[in-house]
Amino acid sequence: MRVGVPKEIKNHEYRVGLTPPSVVELVAQGHSVAVQTGAGLGIDFEDQDYIAAGATILPDAASVFAASDMIVKVKEPQPSEIALLEPRHLLFTYLHLAADKPQAEGLMASGATCIAYETVTANDRSLPLLKPMSEVAGRMSIQVGAHYLEKEQGGRGVLLGGVPGVAPARVAILGGGVSGVNAAQMAVGMRADVTIYDISNARLAELDMFFGSQIKTAYASKAAIAAAVKNAHLVIGAVLVPGAAAPKLVTREMLKTMKRGSVLVDIAIDQGGCFETSHATTHEDPVFEVDGVIHYCVANMPGAVARTSTFALNNATLPFVIKLVNQGAEAAMAADPHLANGLNVYKGKIAFKAVADDLDLPF
Ligand code: NAD
Repeated sequence: MRVGVPKEIKNHEYRVGLTPPSVVELVAQGHSVAVQTGAGLGIDFEDQDYIAAGATILPDAASVFAASDMIVKVKEPQPSEIALLEPRHLLFTYLHLAADKPQAEGLMASGATCIAYETVTANDRSLPLLKPMSEVAGRMSIQVGAHYLEKEQGGRGVLLGGVPGVAPARVAILGGGVSGVNAAQMAVGMRADVTIYDISNARLAELDMFFGSQIKTAYASKAAIAAAVKNAHLVIGAVLVPGAAAPKLVTREMLKTMKRGSVLVDIAIDQGGCFETSHATTHEDPVFEVDGVIHYCVANMPGAVARTSTFALNNATLPFVIKLVNQGAEAAMAADPHLANGLNVYKGKIAFKAVADDLDLPF
């Protein structure tokens, strides 16, 4: 199959659909790959690296789309990219259609087959192509939290790990799933005093087994969260209720009990956020203060570490890309129901029921 990788065009998006090592895999299996010039420059993949991997470099998105049967991207296609899609194209990327009717209608009109990373599933009912980004966001949350606890950033002037003779900072992690665990691993590594709160007793038991005495676990009751927030230097919001807005676990009232210069990192902001006072921010302007408490609520945290994120995403997407190019979309989806769950738009129609329902479009 002929695979195409256009340069991402959303503001400050430096990730790229395929890394040079992924190109090597596809070329070795007899496929051709066309990459738009400069597609990986933002994360140090030169055109020469892609050429060495076996790809052809093309001058613009139009020529990449024209020369390809399958397009591999990161972010949802923008209007100028949707205009280049034809019925013969297979598009594999994050789509997040449920809140984006214009994009959904554009993809329907294009006639292309569109498989969304975010709805591909795994045997344990998890979402394997979202997982790497939750891992990145979880790990990053501690790094940014530590940064904003510094005095110069408006923080309390507290070092996360303390020093000999001085107690470490208290970190409360709300939600012990993928991002919560990754946050905890970083916080433990920095020697903070870490507690994870979750409402799943099974999950709390797993965390207890996994971390042993390195962390504390607690059932996420309202009272427990109120007490945690009051005492914490850093609170990480890492909850997810699949298919629903994040529950507002930290209320404005609770915020008033926190010390000035404490930090909240709301990873769950892409689902509305789990702090009542959260609103989405960007990497250009990542934080704001409410009642003297610093809020970091960037909706696309992995974009800040685009090189790591691109490798992590490729590790997860490449096995599916290989199935799609070797078998063709229809046969690959027929053979793998988890990949088939990724199908969002097919032959001019929405092919994912929840998206059709949310957008009031025919299924
Ligand atoms: P996950 O499903 O792995 O974990 C969520 C955890 O929250 C589960 O353990 C669940 O039991 C727990 N939970 C649910 N309701 C709770 C409650 N009321 N109190 C306490 N715990 C509760 O989810 P994840 O992959 O870690 O993702 C978390 C959120 O981060 C999602 O909204 C995801 O989209 C988002 N995310 C954001 C970014 C970003 O850049 N901001 C990046 C990646 C993921």
